[in-house]
Amino acid sequence: MSAPLIDLSAVSRSYGSPPTVALSHVDLRVARGEMLAIVGPSGSGKSTLLNLMGTLDRASSGDIRIDGLDTGAMSDAELSALRAHTIGFVFQQYHLAEGVTALDNVATGLLYTGIPARERRARAAVALERVGLSARAGHRPQELSGGERQRVAIARAVVGEPALILADEPTGALDSRSGAGVVSILAELNAAGTTVVVITHDPQVAERMPRRVAIRDGEIVDDSGSRSASGPGTVPDAAAGALVGATS
Ligand code: ADP
Ligand code: MG
Repeated sequence: MSAPLIDLSAVSRSYGSPPTVALSHVDLRVARGEMLAIVGPSGSGKSTLLNLMGTLDRASSGDIRIDGLDTGAMSDAELSALRAHTIGFVFQQYHLAEGVTALDNVATGLLYTGIPARERRARAAVALERVGLSARAGHRPQELSGGERQRVAIARAVVGEPALILADEPTGALDSRSGAGVVSILAELNAAGTTVVVITHDPQVAERMPRRVAIRDGEIVDDSGSRSASGPGTVPDAAAGALVGATS
């Protein structure tokens, strides 16, 4: 079996002095092709955990391996190259550039890849099609609904075809219908082979995920388990077969 895509061992993160402990001795492994929710109340350490998995932040102690690489031993430049190739981020507030079309917002997801501008825009058009927004390619963010903005942000996150999508409360600013649409798109990306981690405090969003990891006061207090392992959290054979079919 290949190494987990995400492998955290005894990871802690504290801030300031005296230290506030945001995460304490977290062990978490995510296999390639999984989709999971990380759930917990506000302040429980969810964003801290996502930032560490995304190499946007460094652990105070413990080991973080992403795609088999020991991130603690890597320079900031190496981490930023790892992120550019391997990870797409989606945040609650979209972080789109105002005054720039949806197409060009998505194309910025390829800015640091060395791909020529013309090709970046062609790939951006394909990514917008994947999220069902081809008809809005020429619209600016202020001309789009919240759900559409988040779909543009997802297209930007996936335009470089990263192995991993990390989404921090992607439905947090959306009504339930738009939120359900965003979750469906994330599920489609997962069915096509992308590993997806979604932070949420919305039980309806968490319910739709094959695996749920609960965090409280910086510690993992429950994990429904990986679908590739036996036991709780394993999906029925029919569903597992469908996923295998979709990724092969
Ligand atoms: P969540 O995303 O679950 O709401 P966070 O990961 O943002 O939780 O925060 C976990 C804890 O760490 C909180 O007590 C928060 O105040 C603290 N924290 C997070 N980021 C910082 C920071 N940059 N400086 C100081 N404390 C922080
Ligand atoms: Mg948060």
